[in-house]
Amino acid sequence: MRQIDHVIAGGAGGGGSVRTGEVFDPNSGEIQAHVALGSAAELERAVAAAQAAQPGWAATNPQRRARVMFRFKELVEREMDALAHLLSSEHGKVIADAKGDIQRGLEVIEFACGIPHVLKGEYTQGAGPGIDVYSMRLPVGIGAGITPFNFPAMIPMWMFGVAIACGNAFILKPSERDPSVPVRLAELMLEAGAPEGVLQVVHGDKEMVDAILDHPAIGAISFVGSSDIAHYVYRRGVEAGKRVQAMGGAKNHGIVMPDADLDQVVADLSGAAFGSAGERCMALPVVVPVGDETADRLREKLIPAIAALRVGVSTDADAHYGPVVNAAHKARVEQWIQTGVDEGAELVVDGRGFALQGHERGFFIGPSLFDRVTPQMQSYKEEIFGPVLQIVRAPDFETALRLPSEHQYGNGVAIFTRNGHAAREFAARVNVGMVGINVPIPVPVAYHTFGGWKRSAFGDVNQHGTEGVRFWTRVKTVTQRWPDGGVGEAANAFVIPTMG
Ligand code: NAD
Repeated sequence: MRQIDHVIAGGAGGGGSVRTGEVFDPNSGEIQAHVALGSAAELERAVAAAQAAQPGWAATNPQRRARVMFRFKELVEREMDALAHLLSSEHGKVIADAKGDIQRGLEVIEFACGIPHVLKGEYTQGAGPGIDVYSMRLPVGIGAGITPFNFPAMIPMWMFGVAIACGNAFILKPSERDPSVPVRLAELMLEAGAPEGVLQVVHGDKEMVDAILDHPAIGAISFVGSSDIAHYVYRRGVEAGKRVQAMGGAKNHGIVMPDADLDQVVADLSGAAFGSAGERCMALPVVVPVGDETADRLREKLIPAIAALRVGVSTDADAHYGPVVNAAHKARVEQWIQTGVDEGAELVVDGRGFALQGHERGFFIGPSLFDRVTPQMQSYKEEIFGPVLQIVRAPDFETALRLPSEHQYGNGVAIFTRNGHAAREFAARVNVGMVGINVPIPVPVAYHTFGGWKRSAFGDVNQHGTEGVRFWTRVKTVTQRWPDGGVGEAANAFVIPTMG
């Protein structure tokens, strides 16, 4: 059985972990590897290596750090096929989607290649008589990232791409459910020229996360995962005096105005609701048609589109989506479908009981469609994170606007319309962090920033882009003067200095 070890100080972790976790092949349902589940002892070794490496890395000029990023990007591109297969074999997303996962991460690496320009400080010549002021952005020191299973390439790269380019050492604690791609990325960073200890991977579960949260040498923690754990990580990390950004769950709504092009909407919704088996924080699992007539027309078109979806093994090039990540998650999604039925929603298409011939023990779920879901239902309030689309009918624009605005999550939202005024109004007023206008999955490009509102994100600084640079650096501001030898008026020394 394959063993997946930590990457500490440029090598494998030495197999010191007592506990291990099971990594499944979601296509077959079999265990394919065991991953080390580390403890404070392994973290201590990683922190020591990070402490040894970080000052030299921070002192390496930003152009040279950027060259490592350029080289890393080349290496990942060279290995794209192998990485996508590895990712797909543990996660279950189809190969083309796995490549997208890697590519969206690489786009943050491309942003990080421009770090010399982004890190330039600010300077004011003559802020007072003979006085200049300048600010510089310095690395925090050692940063850590705790990442979810659903984007095992992109989300680690969101974090370490920016953190490392800024001169930090970075310790990654990836999801224990699909840990192999993060290990490969750390190996490629070494090959790209990052010194040992600059990017390390420690595997584990709550025990390792708690060790990270409490370690006094780690100055900044970035987390992405479910909301309760995000909130826990945020509270405990802040309590320990660290800066923390913690992204949580989501329940993104797609508002469909009566004037929308419904064929386009159905094409967009099929991918956004069912792609990656719905295991995306920017999936669109709730659709809100405005007016009953729009709802009826939409439902009419959705049913055949859903029937045409092909669920298959993740290596099937014709499959629209593959299995979910493990048996427990499959059971949880199917339980949510039952909850929806029990609450009185109309189950129009039932994806439960789906079995793929020859892969009966794989973690497959067929697509499901609910109509007449209401805001009071638990299955509406909570994240399902599976291939389930819920129709919530709204009588008018104001009701449709209120639904995502009042939901506990506020990650992403989309509006489909031909009316520019309605779209503009919606974007300005909706209480959600990322908005798509006729764009179903509005994940911002790497040089903008990613982050939701409400229970979708704790902390106040987003991922990647210039916000990411703010998170992974501290500002130092210098006020300088070079007296010409004459002594200033003594009285001034007793008054708070002003530039007047
Ligand atoms: P998860 O919360 O189960 O796990 C995330 C990380 O937390 C993992 O590294 C895991 O090992 C660790 N963890 C798990 N239980 C823990 C505990 N009790 N204490 C401390 N750490 C613990 O999330 P997941 O199932 O891997 O990922 C799916 C979730 O992530 C969904 O809710 C999804 O919406 C969310 N997500 C959010 C974003 C975003 O940017 N907002 C992006 C991707 C995924």
